[in-house]
Amino acid sequence: MNRIADLSVQLSGCVSSETIIRRDEPMARHTTLRVGGPADIYVEPAGEADLAAVLRFCSEQRLNWLVIGRGSNLVVRDGGIRGIVVALSSPVFAQITQAGHCLRAGAGVRLKQLAVEARRWGLSGLEFLAGIPGTVGGALRMNAGAMGGETFRIVVSVRMMTESGEIQELVPAEMTVTYRNCQTLKSRIALAAVFQGVPAERKAIEAKMKAGSEKRWSSQPAAPSAGCMFKNPTAIPAGKLIDELGLKGASVGGARISLEHGNFLVNDGGASAKEVLALMELAQARAKAERGIELHPEVEIVGVDG
Ligand SMILES: Cc1cc2nc3c(=O)[nH]c(=O)nc-3n(C[C@H](O)[C@H](O)[C@H](O)COP(=O)(O)OP(=O)(O)OC[C@H]3O[C@@H](n4cnc5c(N)ncnc54)[C@H](O)[C@@H]3O)c2cc1C
Repeated sequence: MNRIADLSVQLSGCVSSETIIRRDEPMARHTTLRVGGPADIYVEPAGEADLAAVLRFCSEQRLNWLVIGRGSNLVVRDGGIRGIVVALSSPVFAQITQAGHCLRAGAGVRLKQLAVEARRWGLSGLEFLAGIPGTVGGALRMNAGAMGGETFRIVVSVRMMTESGEIQELVPAEMTVTYRNCQTLKSRIALAAVFQGVPAERKAIEAKMKAGSEKRWSSQPAAPSAGCMFKNPTAIPAGKLIDELGLKGASVGGARISLEHGNFLVNDGGASAKEVLALMELAQARAKAERGIELHPEVEIVGVDG
């Protein structure tokens, strides 16, 4: 038996039979850009106890782990991921409960579902989440934002697990949060969070969600992507800069810079991560050479080369 097969058998002995464990799982299946080679071991823990057991196993075996949501901010390299990929896709992590003007949502809840649930309870402030195609866990880690809203502006507290399997519940003031980054969650796994809403008419909430969705559909591509590739430099929005550089429509293999939005790189079908990264490097080189501007990735690039 090879080491990965051996490790996955050992891991299955540490968790309940409901936990899903797969070997050589193609990450292209778990990213919205649809690129990425295999993860050595892919796990969907059936609950918090199994998640803690997986983290302990990683520590004992000195294995790297990576938690993913919907993979909507990830570029996984073609060689895949060495170690264990953890996805909180079990229904246990997808529950939403309401108390007063707050909603408590599991890390696996899709952001659209959370926004829809907030509308059902007549709670405003969460509308911006509706168009972000990630999960609560990913939005917390990325401090995702849109349409003037930002995740941590509506977070009351976050329940999380440390690398040693300990559970903590922290309020934002105890966490390090900046633009599109919650550093506290870099080495912890978000399990759930409480979000604060503001009572409002359902019709008004619906109108905000509709306006946001119309804005997205008119300005963003429908083809597979990982959202905005680059952070906005202070001087100019990244999409505008890429447009001004004449790069809209530029392609490397199956990877293409969207004609609809210069900061979106789309997979025309069959793109490899290598092609995606080559196209990103091309945009970075042109921005630097022609405008003296450094473009920094907003997407997270993980894994090893093919
Ligand atoms: C079409 C499109 C539009 C987008 N629009 C926006 C937008 O308007 N605004 C915006 O901010 N983003 C946008 N994004 C990017 C992306 O959707 C967000 O960053 C989202 O929050 C990522 O969530 P995810 O569940 O997909 O996380 P993933 O991409 O799976 O992971 C992102 C990061 O979060 C970490 N992570 C995931 N789950 C957890 C957890 N439970 N605990 C700790 N860390 C975790 C991962 O390790 C990784 O570091 C867009 C993407 C696409 C494809």
